[in-house]
Amino acid sequence: MTVTAATDLVEPLTAGPGWAEEIRRLARERDAVVLAHNYQRPEIQDVADHTGDSLALSRIAAASDASTIVFCGVHFMAETAKILAPDKTVLIPDARAGCSLADSITADELRVWKAEHPGAVVVSYVNTTAAVKAETDVCCTSSNAVEVVRSIPADREILFLPDQFLGAHVRRETGRENLHVWAGECHVHAGINGAELTARAQADPEADLFVHPECGCATSALYLAGAGAVPADQVHILSTGGMLDAAKNTTRRSVLVATEVGMLHQLRRANPDVDFRPVNDRASCGYMKMITPGALTRALVEGRDEVHVDADTAARARGAVQRMIEIGRPGGGE
Ligand code: SF4
Repeated sequence: MTVTAATDLVEPLTAGPGWAEEIRRLARERDAVVLAHNYQRPEIQDVADHTGDSLALSRIAAASDASTIVFCGVHFMAETAKILAPDKTVLIPDARAGCSLADSITADELRVWKAEHPGAVVVSYVNTTAAVKAETDVCCTSSNAVEVVRSIPADREILFLPDQFLGAHVRRETGRENLHVWAGECHVHAGINGAELTARAQADPEADLFVHPECGCATSALYLAGAGAVPADQVHILSTGGMLDAAKNTTRRSVLVATEVGMLHQLRRANPDVDFRPVNDRASCGYMKMITPGALTRALVEGRDEVHVDADTAARARGAVQRMIEIGRPGGGE
């Protein structure tokens, strides 16, 4: 991805009176649709036209009539929107908003890995750069990762990347020995560990557990269920989009949530009668929080930072993303 780099302006961290109305006015003026990921600051989620998970937002971007997409999220998400909507202008309010998981493998590293396993099928989670997607056979979300792997003939080796926890989840579900997993991780999700989850679950035995499969505790959650420590029907391994659906339908009074804390805003809005609590209240993604009210204002006023993906990379990456959408229920990824 190439971007026009952000200037080092001092940006207000909070939205003042009239800010939301100003954003709506600026968006109309620029013919822009504002999209916000579920991990964004609450004020950004509230001012956006649409809030959701990465894939759902990219699909909205592609279907929108607006000529400009303002993607409030991290840059691999804005790139995916550009891949699916190549004729639109895609802006990210701060190009420095990266992702430790996407950065855990480069296209060069993937090419070396592929050379070591000739003939292997490359399956990449959506949290990857456009350049890595271009080297990928099929992308997957956390909702359809198991189905994507099952769709590949049993005798073919698979290279699964970049998340080791999602990879472990897929290997356990499919029982597949010829699935090689890249040792990448998200620093936020890896920080939500099994010990914390166990302590929280034991303190509130009636609570449901919503666990994102990128979490270090996903294995612990399944282990707890398997060992009978928590009833299996209380443990739900879910993408962020899946969490929202489950939030609307839960009959529990409290739910423990193991993912980035920004998700709690949408869950509480979806079902205000339920007490949603984080497993780790320090699980906040600093990259996501770089999209401040000031940065969003600047994006709409100055038309920056624009995201570019070269046409050849975009075309190859688009093929991997489209194959993902055709398999199972892709949900929305992170
Ligand atoms: S929470 Fe983790 S995976 Fe998600 S954007 Fe932040 S660093 Fe990346």
